[in-house]
This record gives sequence, C-alpha cells and structure tokens, in this order.
Amino acid sequence: MNNIKGIAASAGIAIARAFTLEHPDYTVTTQKAENVNGEIAKLDAALDKSRTELEAIKERTRQELGEKKAEIFESHLLILDDPELITPVKDKIAAESVTAEYALNETAEQFIKMFENMKSAYLQERAADMRDVTKRILKHLLGLNYVSPSEINEEVIVIAEDLTPSDTAQLNRKYVKGFTTNIGGRTSHSAIMARSLEIPAVVGTKNVLSLVKNGDLIIVDGLEGNVLINPSEAMVAEYRSKQESYAKQVEEWRKLRNEPTVSKDGVHVELAANIGTPNDVAGVLDNGGEAVGLYRTEFLYMGRDKLPSEEIQYNAYKTVLEKMEGKPVVVRTLDIGGDKELPYLDLPKEMNPFLGFRAVRLCLERQDIFRTQLRALLRASVHGNLRIMFPMIATLGEFREAKALLEEEKSKLISEGTAVSENIQLGIMVEIPSTAVMADQFAKEVDFFSIGTNDLIQYTMAADRMNERVSYLYQPYNPAILRLVKMVIDAAHREGRWAGMCGEMAGDAIAIPLLLGLGLDEFSMSATSILPARSQISRLSRAEMQELAVKALDMRTAEEVVELVRQVTAK
Ligand code: PEP
Ligand code: MG
Repeated sequence: MNNIKGIAASAGIAIARAFTLEHPDYTVTTQKAENVNGEIAKLDAALDKSRTELEAIKERTRQELGEKKAEIFESHLLILDDPELITPVKDKIAAESVTAEYALNETAEQFIKMFENMKSAYLQERAADMRDVTKRILKHLLGLNYVSPSEINEEVIVIAEDLTPSDTAQLNRKYVKGFTTNIGGRTSHSAIMARSLEIPAVVGTKNVLSLVKNGDLIIVDGLEGNVLINPSEAMVAEYRSKQESYAKQVEEWRKLRNEPTVSKDGVHVELAANIGTPNDVAGVLDNGGEAVGLYRTEFLYMGRDKLPSEEIQYNAYKTVLEKMEGKPVVVRTLDIGGDKELPYLDLPKEMNPFLGFRAVRLCLERQDIFRTQLRALLRASVHGNLRIMFPMIATLGEFREAKALLEEEKSKLISEGTAVSENIQLGIMVEIPSTAVMADQFAKEVDFFSIGTNDLIQYTMAADRMNERVSYLYQPYNPAILRLVKMVIDAAHREGRWAGMCGEMAGDAIAIPLLLGLGLDEFSMSATSILPARSQISRLSRAEMQELAVKALDMRTAEEVVELVRQVTAK
C-alpha cells in the first residue's frame, strides 16, 4: 500500500479502480507512404473501429441521457460514412502517395475551415463535429490508446497530471467517483468544478500519476487530502465506514435546506453559490443557496471552437435567472486568462499569465467580445434579479470604462425597443490589492464588492495559486489578508453598499467565524459548502466573532490566527 498526501479539493470519499488519463498527441509526422493500397486498407480499418466505438457510445447515451443527446453521435456516424469526406481522402492517398493520417488531416482541415467561415450556426457546429470525428479516426490511425473523459463507462477514479476545466466538465458523475492530480491547488479551476460536480478530489499530489497503474484500487479522501494506492482490506473497511459517517453528516445538514442563515444571536447573512454553467443551478437550489454570488461565465466560452454568440449567451443567462426565480444572480463578465485559456483567440503565450492580459483588461481591448456579452446580459436582465460584476478591476479608470460600455449598450438596446431592467446592481470583484486598498474610493461608485480571495491571496502573498511548491505561502488566515478584507467591508458599509466574498475562503470553516466577525454580508461558495456553513453559523454568535476578529487582526502569523479561531470556537 502507498499513501500519498495532496490538497483536499472536494469533500467526500471515493473508492474505485484507477483510470489514468493522459492526453494524446495527434500530430501527424509521416507524410510519404510506400504502399498506397496498405494506407487505404489502414483507413478503412480505422473507420470501422471508429464506427463500432460510436455505435456503442450512441447506444449508451441513448439509454442514459435520452434520444436527443444521442443524436450528436448519429451525426458523427454520418460524417464517418460521408463520401464527400472519405472519397477525397482516398483520392489524395492514391494521387500523392501519402499516409492515410496525412491525407485525412489535410482534407478534414479544409472542410473544417470552410464550415467555420460560414454564417450559419448549424454549419459552424458541423465544424466542431468534424473535428471530433477526425480526432477519433486519427486516434486509430496513429495507434493512440486514448479514451476521453466523457467516454468513461465504468466506475473509476481518474488519475491525471492535471485536468483542464473542460476535462472536468466532461466527467460523468455516474462513473467518475473521484479524481486526483499531480498539480493544482484548492482554488485551481478543476478543483472548483469538482466541488460543483460533487466529485471527491485530491489535487497537488506531485506524483500520483507515476505511482498508479490502470486498474489499481484507489481511495480518494477529499476530506483530509489523502490518496491510498492498493490499500489493505482493513483500510478499505475503515474508509467505507468513514464514507458512511460522512453520508450521515450530509443528511443532517440537509435538514437546513429551507432555513434562513442566522447566527446564534440573530444576525442574518446571505449564503450564495458559485456556478460555472446553467446546469449548476440545480445543485444551488438543492443545497439551499439563497442566491448565485458568482456565475463564472468563462465556461460558456470554453470547450467550443469559437466565441459564443449573443443568442447562446442570452439563453444561458436567461436560464439561470429564471431558474433562480427572482433570487439575486451575480454574473461576472468574461474572466479569461490565468489557468483558463481560449485557444481560438490565439493569444500569445505570456511569461506570467496570472499577471497578464486577462479578464477585464482583455475585454476593454476586445470590445467586440465584451459588448456582445453585455448586450446578452442586458437583454436577459428582465428575466430575474441580475447583478453584473467586472473581474480583475485594478483601477477606477478600468471600472469607469467598463461601466461606460455597459451604459452605451443599454442605451442602444433601449432605442432599439428592447426591454432592459432598471434595477441591475453593478459591482466589482476585489481581487487585486490596489483595489482593496482603494476600496473607500471605489465604494462611492459601485453598488457592491465581491472579494475574490483566490486571486487576492495570490497577489498579496506573491504566491501562484496553482503552484503546490509555494502553497505554504497561500495563506487565507494571514493577518495581511484579514486586514485587506476588513478594509473592503468597512469601505462598503461606510457608503451604504454591501460586501460579499466569492473566493473559496468564504466557505472555509476556519475563515467563516472571522468573516462573520468582520461583518461580511454575503458568502458565496461551492454549493456543497452551503449547508455545512449554515450549520456552523447557526452555532456562532456574531458579537463574539466580532471580538475574535479584532484579536485576529492583531495576530502576527496565520498559524496564530488558526490557533485563536480553534480556541474560541471550541468553547
Ligand atoms: C477569485 O479570484 O477569488 C475568484 C472568485 O475568481 P476566480 O477563482 O475565477 O479567479
Ligand atoms: Mg479571480
């Protein structure tokens, strides 16, 4: 047995066989072919294998997710058998004496480019389908042994170097019982998504992938951050009972689903949820969320080949607003960059992507992208209680510029006769230290603040949130962070604004007593953290936590703060 330590990224315990996930390299290296007939036979064989695979996936999808979802694989099968694609590939092999993979790649790229340049949304979607099918055939031609995360069809624990947010989004909860990665931290986006999918996860183990073989028995303990490889029977039994007591605890918390969030001495705070897609709203309501405190819209832009149209965005925002039935929904405008890439924007690689051309910086330059999003949001605003929030604001100038673009789009829509809500609150994320320090000035111009501690901590401590080697510096409880948080909350209150927090710190059991004491109005967290937080707050007195916060602000180290919180809350 091997027991390795990582970072507990998503609560729960999973026990299943390992599935190691490594990304394939589809690069075609051999162009010239010796045996043309051999290449054609190779292509036919790859087409046959792809067909068998697609038939099976289609059938499984039909049974599990219904006819509609299975149609996509029907269209993949049609592409696979389409003579308009296959005949030119075979002709190219014969005419130019090239390999099947080279001929397929070249021919398919031409079709894909052509479809992508068409106006019709239908044809543009065909481009994405054709890219998928081409990869599937190439996988067989190149002899790659790869199953994509979405194709996993037995209960497993996924083991990977890292998971991109789009890999994570594809994981099917029914089969993927847990995952563990070499790199990443609690606030990397795959960890955040694991929490919204409610999949136990341990990240930042440094070497799990090299220690595990496919099929090994694995325990992922997302409560403590442990990964056990080929555990003994006694260990498995111990973890099964841990799993059961955690399930019982979850049942207890569920009793608070429809209760308000009130401290022991009667102070109300709002517990909101962070979401990445409209599908996540079900989890918010199921976990008793009182609002959406952060809708990370960038996931709408990821996992596709081009920018989402205004219509696609409008529908997504409208869906979330409608499902939340009048409860507040804070939508954050596009925050791409850092660990969230958009390959189709073709942005140059940067030395320091977290300090680079990202989020609102990109939006202010690429106004075409920003205005489309703002229009979609404004149009959707009549369907619920919309609040708009700009990410990564560093200066008042940026806020004013972004607000001016919003106002311009609003006037245009109104003059076109489109209804727009008159009650859209406009706020900013406070995740850059300069903005926290200047919060008193910002508070005169914004409706609200949402403190983004995931970034605020990394910028204040100069410690990359993705780098497990400096994770010891990533200190939410450092008095420096607490003092910045206090500055922001106090500045908001002096101007009659509200202050929330949507960084992971808002759902952290050690931080919650401190934040309650500092006067935070809204706590926005992973949906699964809401009920434990509600239960915790009901046992805390706000007046006592105010005293705790005053003491904590005067402590010298993060460790001293943790010790103090433990002492005070254990009483
Ligand atoms: C944050 O920085 O705290 C935040 C909520 O945004 P993200 O994690 O998406 O950077
Ligand atoms: Mg951020």
